[in-house]
Amino acid sequence: MAIVASDLRSVRATVSGPVSWQAAMKSAIRDPAELCRELELPADLASEIADASFRVFAPRGYVAKMIPGDPRDPLLLQVLPRVEELEDTEGFVKDPVGDLDAALASGLIHKYHGRVLLVATGACAIHCRYCFRRHYPYETIPRTLEAWRPAIQQIAADSTVEEVILSGGDPLTLVDRLLEQLVGELERIPHLKRLRVHTRLPVVIPERVTDELLAWLTGSRLAPIMVVHANHPREVAGDVAAALTKLIRAGVPVLNQSVLLRGVNDDVESLAELSRELVNLRVMPYYLHQLDRVAGTQHFEVPVERGIELIEQLRARLPGYAVPRYVQEIAGEANKRVLA
Ligand SMILES: *Cc1c(COP(=O)(O)O)cnc(C)c1O
Ligand code: SF4
Repeated sequence: MAIVASDLRSVRATVSGPVSWQAAMKSAIRDPAELCRELELPADLASEIADASFRVFAPRGYVAKMIPGDPRDPLLLQVLPRVEELEDTEGFVKDPVGDLDAALASGLIHKYHGRVLLVATGACAIHCRYCFRRHYPYETIPRTLEAWRPAIQQIAADSTVEEVILSGGDPLTLVDRLLEQLVGELERIPHLKRLRVHTRLPVVIPERVTDELLAWLTGSRLAPIMVVHANHPREVAGDVAAALTKLIRAGVPVLNQSVLLRGVNDDVESLAELSRELVNLRVMPYYLHQLDRVAGTQHFEVPVERGIELIEQLRARLPGYAVPRYVQEIAGEANKRVLA
């Protein structure tokens, strides 16, 4: 029956035409049973208890890139709530990277010299099961310009800060009008030179790369850098490739970060193919993250020795610039630790 499903899928893709990114957010799959049904998988593949602690959220365009009938699909594994999440494993905790200690004002995290991370919103356009922010107390995070003011003042008061990283959650779940206002405020701080945006939106809802977005991102005196997040080569195909190209043509350097995930990309073919697809699009592989030891994610962990081996295999296959740095975040350290 898989053939019928992929036929339906291609019909839907051709008749639906472009949808706005907000419509894509609204129509995202939020029900684990529906996710399984869409993919012709038994409903009991999803754990309702795991879903209750971190709800499914999967844009339909992203789900359309999964292969129906395959319970081990590398894209599906990133969004499917599984019983394994309920296991309590020693060493896996709610805040392994010490973000809560590092929060200066509400929403501002200053861990590394010269750059601060502004948690602009708690919302994401996909719920990644391995995410280190799945336990983050997002209720406390500002979502309006007024509420960001203390963070903005704190940045203005510290002349060592040259770069603001808009992060979250995902900052691009906010509307362009609000982001434009925020950038306008940041621009007035003379010691700021760069604006970095950490986002998964161009990968999961490529319609998000609007002309309005390009206008505030490239129209600022701050040098823009975008860091997207894709883990598997299938995530950057088709409409995503077009969206990334649009950013690059507009003059925005685009980097990619991935998380090393068991069953998703812990094989040299997937990682090499991802890097090749990215550099062909002019997107630079930046980081391959060792999984943060977040409660409920232990089944995604790949041993560091295996990660180092994979990086060595990538080096033997790819140009040097196409090999990401394999890094791990250690609470209290001055930078992310380079493992290979
Ligand atoms: C990862 C991270 C950064 C950015 O680090 P780079 O090595 O510059 O990419 C900044 N602040 C925080 C809190 C981070 O976790
Ligand atoms: S913060 Fe990034 S990794 Fe975490 S759920 Fe949101 S999009 Fe996924």
